[in-house]
Amino acid sequence: MDKSALSVKRSGKLPCLKSNIIRPLYHSKTEAMKKILVSACLLGQRVRHDAEVILMDDPYIGKLAEMGLLVPFCPEVEGGMGVPREPLEIKGDTFWRSGSVTRVLNIKGEDLTSVILKGAEAGLDLVRKEKIGYGLLKDLSPSCGHSEVFDGSFSSTKIKGKGALASLLEKQGVMLFTERQSGILYHRVIDELLNPEKKGFGRS
Ligand code: SF4
Repeated sequence: MDKSALSVKRSGKLPCLKSNIIRPLYHSKTEAMKKILVSACLLGQRVRHDAEVILMDDPYIGKLAEMGLLVPFCPEVEGGMGVPREPLEIKGDTFWRSGSVTRVLNIKGEDLTSVILKGAEAGLDLVRKEKIGYGLLKDLSPSCGHSEVFDGSFSSTKIKGKGALASLLEKQGVMLFTERQSGILYHRVIDELLNPEKKGFGRS
């Protein structure tokens, strides 16, 4: 066996993550790691309201997929909505604070709050089942939005706020990242891989 592979096994350190020699060790380590719930549309699945498939050229998402850590999920499809569907926006308290009155309407004014909540609850169930510790969620969605959402006027006006799924996952202690923060998430995961005993990386 190659000497570098042996030293990797003993030390538990991964000096070069791209090496084919250490890839099997790399995979055995990631099996025990916290998984990442990902908005399915970020992985090119046809789940968006406009039925468009967006192929993101994001090397970090590619690497995380290669590590076997991604769990794709679309709360709106899971909640029972079809593809395509009318666009939806949050009306009212967009911060989705507990006890607040928040509704999610489509562009025709139909109230789909219960469907959105059903999908978000399904996401929470998945988090518990799959030992998910991170979320990589598409911003601006009334379900997945994490830092910004649209303001409910269907005029592409963005405001600070969270969607239903993002809000529930955050309350559950899932660490959330938007699609613009995939590099930050990737480096955090690598840090966890190399330093599993570090504070804050406890297995959930
Ligand atoms: S609900 Fe989330 S996963 Fe589904 S299409 Fe919208 S942003 Fe993507």
